Amino acid sequence: MSDCIFCKIINGDFGTEFVYENDIAVVFKDINPQADTHLLVVPRKHVESLNEVDDENLLGKLMMTVKEVTSKLNIKSYRTIINTGKDAGQEVFHLHIHILSGGIKNGIN
Ligand code: 5GP
Ligand code: ZN
Repeated sequence: MSDCIFCKIINGDFGTEFVYENDIAVVFKDINPQADTHLLVVPRKHVESLNEVDDENLLGKLMMTVKEVTSKLNIKSYRTIINTGKDAGQEVFHLHIHILSGGIKNGIN
C-alpha cells in the first residue's frame, strides 16, 4: 500500500537493513527498541492486522520466520508480540510480529 511505512521499508525506500528475509517476510530492527534486541517480522504482503488475515499458511510461515531468524542470530530466549488494533497499541497497520530479547522493558506499546 503506497502510504504504508512498512510497505515502503519492504520496497527499500529508506535503505533499511534486513537482518533476515525469505520469500514471505522481511525482518528488521525496531527504530525504538524496547529490549536489547527488538526485531520486527513483517510479511511482504500488506495485511492491516491479524484481524484481516485469512491465510493460515501465511501465519504459519511468519511463525517459522521467527524461528529462522532467532536461530540464525542464536537468540534462544525471546518474547513475541502481535499488537492488534489501536486500543491494544498497534501503531503501524501492516501486520508484524515483535521479537524481544534481553532487558525487555515493561509495557511494550
Ligand atoms: P506496533 O505498535 O504497531 O505494534 O509497532 C510498530 C513498531 O514499529 C513500533 O515499535 C515502532 O517503534 C516501529 N516503527 C515505526 N516506524 C518505524 C520505522 O520507520 N522503522 C523501523 N525500523 N521501525 C519503525
Ligand atoms: Zn503495508
